[in-house]
Amino acid sequence: MSTDTANRIHIEKATTSKISQVDFNNLMFGRVFTDHMFVCDFKDGKWQKPQIMPYQAMTIEPSARVFHYGQAVFEGMKAYKDEDGKTFLFRPQQNFERINKSSARMAIPEFPQNYFFEGLEALLKLDNEWIKPGVGSSLYLRPFVIATEPAISASPANEYRFMIICSPAKAYYNEPVRVLIAEKYSRSADGGVGFAKAAGNYGAQFFPTSLAQKKGFQQIIWTDASTHDYLEEAGTMNIFFRINDKLITAPTNDRILDGVTRKSVIQLAEDLGIDCEVRQITVKEIKEAAKDGSLKEIFGAGTAAVISPVSAFEHAGDVFEITAADKSYAQLFKSTLLNIQHNLSEDKHGWRHEIK
Ligand SMILES: *Cc1c(COP(=O)(O)O)cnc(C)c1O
Repeated sequence: MSTDTANRIHIEKATTSKISQVDFNNLMFGRVFTDHMFVCDFKDGKWQKPQIMPYQAMTIEPSARVFHYGQAVFEGMKAYKDEDGKTFLFRPQQNFERINKSSARMAIPEFPQNYFFEGLEALLKLDNEWIKPGVGSSLYLRPFVIATEPAISASPANEYRFMIICSPAKAYYNEPVRVLIAEKYSRSADGGVGFAKAAGNYGAQFFPTSLAQKKGFQQIIWTDASTHDYLEEAGTMNIFFRINDKLITAPTNDRILDGVTRKSVIQLAEDLGIDCEVRQITVKEIKEAAKDGSLKEIFGAGTAAVISPVSAFEHAGDVFEITAADKSYAQLFKSTLLNIQHNLSEDKHGWRHEIK
């Protein structure tokens, strides 16, 4: 850590580590947190001196606006370790830019780039033992911002807290998922906040997703709110369709989150010589492709699960099973991405960001 950073962040180290109590072979996603957390408050019109302190509960007034109006945004990223013990982030600049895009939409002040990166670096050094080497292991990082000002008038807050908490992770969904295509509920609409990682986007999906789960589907593929004719994305993943040997994914817009994994898959497809069309895709087209056998794969793409294959989908009472393609693109993209993330293959686009 440079002295510059040391001066900029106030660090209070945990006196003992919880790491010996953690079973790294049996991790449930997002349940266990590392020894430290990063905290930076916004008040008097500016971001104050950042701090790293032991992970702990905190006191916030019941009137804080986040509790009433959901003025909150978050990010999801991962740190990886190679067999030599080097630590890497994957395209973190994308997450930095996106949290500020999300913040701007939610009238939250933008967070400074140097605080974001210095905070991540200092935290990953302190909690480095929590990042286990090996493909599949990672440390999930959750930067987020909440409106903390104790005032319940319905207007943007004058005080915020930016934080980063870290949770050791194994692969997210291991099993292929069955998905339901949305016909009634919507995740986002034109002019709305679908492109932002705004907290309320996720809370609003829990109820329709629980209905889908009762019918035996783990996830929903959301369609456009006005016609429900166009396939957009899943709950926390962008979605790809493979028809014969061609990949198709929806273009991003203000309803769809611009995923880092999606972007990376599109680039890798080009590198691997796989034709990938970025265009609107209809439910009708996918159902027809499922009927005539040209639909080979559907998979989700997102940081948590990396690539998540879909084994079946339902729409308007019709259920289509998708038999796993041998030489699946899902598997190919997953291993290609994991190998880059874990420093096992060449990084020709400069996606790895080493923590030194
Ligand atoms: C986070 C998220 C994704 C995936 O984005 P990544 O940057 O690849 O993790 C896709 N869709 C939604 C709605 C998301 O919240």
